[in-house]
Amino acid sequence: MISRIDMRGSLPADLRDVLPRAELDVEAALEKVRPICEDVRHRGAAAVRELTARFDGVEIATTRVPAEALERALRELDPTVRAALEESIRRARLVHRDQRRADVTTQVVPGGTVTERWVPVERVGLYVPGGRAVYPSSVVMNVVPAQEAGVGSLAVTSPAQKEHGGLPHPTILAACALLGVGEVHSAGGAQAVAMFAYGTEDCPAATMVTGPGNIYVAAAKRLLKGRIGIDSEAGPTEIAILADDTADPVHVAADLISQAEHDTIAAAVLVTTSAELADAVDKELPGQVSATRHSERITEALSGRQSGIVLVSSVDDGLKVVDAYAAEHLEIHTADAAAVAARVRNAGAIFVGAYAPVSLGDYLAGSNHVLPTGGCACHSGGLSVQSFLRGVHVVDYSREALAGAAAHVSALADAEDLPAHGAAIRARFDWRVPTETE
Ligand code: NAD
Repeated sequence: MISRIDMRGSLPADLRDVLPRAELDVEAALEKVRPICEDVRHRGAAAVRELTARFDGVEIATTRVPAEALERALRELDPTVRAALEESIRRARLVHRDQRRADVTTQVVPGGTVTERWVPVERVGLYVPGGRAVYPSSVVMNVVPAQEAGVGSLAVTSPAQKEHGGLPHPTILAACALLGVGEVHSAGGAQAVAMFAYGTEDCPAATMVTGPGNIYVAAAKRLLKGRIGIDSEAGPTEIAILADDTADPVHVAADLISQAEHDTIAAAVLVTTSAELADAVDKELPGQVSATRHSERITEALSGRQSGIVLVSSVDDGLKVVDAYAAEHLEIHTADAAAVAARVRNAGAIFVGAYAPVSLGDYLAGSNHVLPTGGCACHSGGLSVQSFLRGVHVVDYSREALAGAAAHVSALADAEDLPAHGAAIRARFDWRVPTETE
């Protein structure tokens, strides 16, 4: 069901290239989403409606979800799901509230200060997936940090559902209502990202788009980055597990399966020092897969080229492999898991030991589940309050403090052959370079 790569002995030099990755990556999906984004750019809401009919199989008159639909969804929400969402929101708020940063003022010289002021982006579009599965949990993960950052205007979008009259799934609407989000749109895929980037008759443009999604959503975010800010490329889910012979194969198999459940191109990778564990997981998988509802999707994900078991000689080599892979989610199932976890450099989120499975992080750990995929975890982090804030430097120098810097500014300006820079300083001192103490 799952392939095996043997790296015992020495690790290949081109580690990143030989590790399992899906064939349909963001790069390949770019060509598919380019015409979709262009269409929305030129034809606005009409294009979004037509693309919704094409990809989601439902005709909609507008993307804007009426307020009554949000209220009704909350009224009709199953009380057990409501309680779980409320607890998920409470825990996420605890963690994200602690991420807020105070403005910092540094006195560089007497009379000269630089303040870093944290300013929220003005308007954000939050993407909540709803293709193969629906993700009210992603409403929580997007909205809570945006609210804690103080974003003023916040809109959620999620694919139109045929079975729900072209509205997003009612649980998503209920989660929005629970969090006090009033602007919700029925749009999915690349067209939803383009809707936020360019604005349409139904939806004003946003400054930033965040949230997880499939490969088309991730590709649209990459394509439109610059016009809009994005969080990270949070595409099809990945789990990597670093395990030794102390790991329980039943847990390991269950966790690989739980992430393979997201998408046929979801990645599940086990990196282990133990051939016995690899064999036991191999044996465990078919039974657990056949007992679960989405066994077909999971089988496709586990047997795809993006998934596999990698055998290594030591935990040290395992760490090199998981760092090169830079997984969205990394679980550590080894002796002294916390010490091993502390040595990991590249991962979207790290789950330590047997009792911190990724499923907990997906819903209720308090951590954010919108995380970088496709190797982006080596340069990007998950969604956080910081994602919605920009640090703006406020420079405040007195005449005396500027005098103290003038000669150095002139020297550097001359070295860069930008004499007008030096002149701009001299203009304030009768066109001469002031003495340092002037
Ligand atoms: P989705 O909402 O991301 O995508 C559905 C949309 O994709 C549809 O509305 C449609 O417009 C578009 N689409 C479908 N086929 C297309 C095609 N051939 N060409 C162009 N557009 C097409 O929902 P999903 O498909 O269920 O995917 C959810 C994804 O989100 C999964 O891959 C899951 O792993 C991922 N996810 C990632 C994270 C993360 O943080 N990285 C978290 C949660 C979920």
